[in-house]
Amino acid sequence: MDIRNFCIIAHIDHGKSTLADRMMEVTGALQKRELKEQHLDMMELERERGITIKLTPVRMQWTHSSPASAGSSGQAPTVLNLIDTPGHTDFRYEVSRSLAACDGAILLVDCSQGIQAQTLAVLTMALEHSLTIIPVLNKIDLPAADPERVGADVMKLLGCRREDILLISAKEGRGVAEVLDRVIEKIPSAIPPSSPQPPSPSGEGGARPTRALIFDAIMDTYRGAVAYVRVIEGEFKRGQKIHLLGTKSQLEVLDVGHFSPKYVSDDVLGEGQIGYIVTGSKDVLQVRTGDTVASSADLPPLPGYKEVQPMVFAGLYPSEADEYPDLREALEKLSLNDAALRFEPERNVALGNGFRCGFLGLLHMDIIQERLEREYDCDLVITAPSVLYEVKLAAKNPGEYVRTSLLKEDEPSVARISNPADFPDPTVIDEIREPWVKLEIVCRGEDVGAVMQLTQSRRGLNTAIEYFEGGRAVLHFEVPLQGIVLDFFDQLKSLSSGYASMSYELLGYRSGDLVKLQILLLGEPAEALSTIVHRSEAHAVGAIICAKLKEVLPQEQFQIPIQAAIGGKIVARETLSAYRKDVTGYLYGGDVSRKKKLLEKQKKGKKRMKQMGRVKLSQEAFLAVLKR
Ligand code: GDP
Ligand code: MG
Repeated sequence: MDIRNFCIIAHIDHGKSTLADRMMEVTGALQKRELKEQHLDMMELERERGITIKLTPVRMQWTHSSPASAGSSGQAPTVLNLIDTPGHTDFRYEVSRSLAACDGAILLVDCSQGIQAQTLAVLTMALEHSLTIIPVLNKIDLPAADPERVGADVMKLLGCRREDILLISAKEGRGVAEVLDRVIEKIPSAIPPSSPQPPSPSGEGGARPTRALIFDAIMDTYRGAVAYVRVIEGEFKRGQKIHLLGTKSQLEVLDVGHFSPKYVSDDVLGEGQIGYIVTGSKDVLQVRTGDTVASSADLPPLPGYKEVQPMVFAGLYPSEADEYPDLREALEKLSLNDAALRFEPERNVALGNGFRCGFLGLLHMDIIQERLEREYDCDLVITAPSVLYEVKLAAKNPGEYVRTSLLKEDEPSVARISNPADFPDPTVIDEIREPWVKLEIVCRGEDVGAVMQLTQSRRGLNTAIEYFEGGRAVLHFEVPLQGIVLDFFDQLKSLSSGYASMSYELLGYRSGDLVKLQILLLGEPAEALSTIVHRSEAHAVGAIICAKLKEVLPQEQFQIPIQAAIGGKIVARETLSAYRKDVTGYLYGGDVSRKKKLLEKQKKGKKRMKQMGRVKLSQEAFLAVLKR
């Protein structure tokens, strides 16, 4: 059988999910009447927000329009396994895992927008995986489409010829058949001709080694853990004994099959295929993404995935203390399906028992919170997000000042701390290091000045500028992660009228003049509201947070002084007056949809208040520290 495994990669909104729709339609994988728009965005949240969050595989069959010229095996249809991927930078781990299961990628570029930051980022990832790239320009139906100019940019980027680039309208279905033909022509077959053939006649436990890479997994209420795999060699069948090489567990295959995109059961899942294996395991720790499924425990594991590095951390606490075990279970199950999610227990004097969670970015954090609430019915309080700092202690015995679990193994005088509450007294701190990232921004020529200014205000250093046809620029920076992780993207979008895009990647840790900014309510430090800032911006940030808190804290029957302090020294102050009749006032300004969302959240999160001494903290209070 002839198989091609490929994915569609692109910047967000360039039309990946729509092209996947058309492909399913043209190949007859789905009838038009069954097909919803962006069919592969199956999660309720994806449909509401109009973005792809999870990778989604689907199998199709296609016969090349002129089989002879394709050099494919006669008239027999080729099996195409497609993986639709997200385009937002926070979900790049989904993309990188999809890439590892594929041999080629369609690089889709909206030719009314041109190459964007994520186009460059996902292309780099695909090239690192040595995938064959098929460049495709989408949305040629739009009046603003400029295939000439964008085509020239793509040629420069890939070093390809103009005739290598296909022009399509995924919306109208124009050019989609040609893309499928090109996939068969260009992308290497999933079963290399050199593969030691033929598979042993289906005898018991044939000598043929069998291995597959788990690129995703999901906990199914009835079937237990289901592994999404790319079979590298051999084949899988129901009843077969399998070994998970990483977690050293032995399981039995309860079912195998492919995605339509729904589960479709098959007799065998053969070499080269993408499909699923139902393991029945109820243990969320057993079936891990990146692990190898093998016929024997003695086989060497396949190269897994790079450990994913969380970028931002926040505390997640149940609104009611007795919901802590439910939250743990929910996080465990969700982390099986979201391999980028990290969590560990955390205790906070004011908030009780919860979890410190690591996310790839703020959108990821937001999505996790919503999934916990919708899919697992959790009611949460989430603290202000922070990056992970390295704190070098001057003290002889660091264990006296920070929990020993925070100390770095290879550098025991250094603690890795994301929770400002865990910062030791400044007098025992030798040095604070913060994460820096390599930032790439693609924008219009006329926005370059404003982008430079914004990035400099976040302590960014410009390292290079390149220009595309028509004056669009690619700006390269090095910048502290802290400066771009919170509201930077919103600012970038608004200064560029939505035209700029960005992507970033961790560079490493650098020493910085950082201080802990404490918030005092009624003169008492509210540790859950503390934040780490650069000394030069401490006053300004303190003033903004105090003002925000004044707006969002519920009034009480007494006056509440709100103060910001560094090492005991007050740097900003506001006073929340005592309770009067009208309390709707604390639904602060901003646009209507934000207000509506807040109201909705309040309806659901009635309980979402935490008593801090004599002051109640609403979820909004924690988020006030976020938007500066
Ligand atoms: P994704 O984020 O890359 O998956 O993009 P989607 O498939 O969700 O598409 C983003 C938006 O672009 C949707 O509103 C689509 O209807 C629209 N779109 C996709 N392809 C085309 C096209 O060829 N022409 C036009 N005019 N719109 C398109
Ligand atoms: Mg999509």
